[in-house]
Amino acid sequence: MQDRQLGPLQENDSNDCPYAAGDLVPDSGIYELCHQDKPADTLVFIRGAVFSECVCCGSKARYRLLRAAPYLMEDPDFRGPRVM
Ligand SMILES: [Zn+2]
Repeated sequence: MQDRQLGPLQENDSNDCPYAAGDLVPDSGIYELCHQDKPADTLVFIRGAVFSECVCCGSKARYRLLRAAPYLMEDPDFRGPRVM
């Protein structure tokens, strides 16, 4: 007989929202903020930023990428000094 093993703490289904508050933003784009108990918000994050805690969920806020969208300044076409 075995005790039932407790998995990692997962109060909500985090499969859909793999990123947690405090994680580094892996790619610039449009993200969905998956709240604990209200409809998701859509936000833009820039790569290298940190997913922020939300006022209602705090550190339990979860994020998922809806659509990667390169930030203007990261695009090679727009990089570099402007030639006058
Ligand atoms: Zn929230």
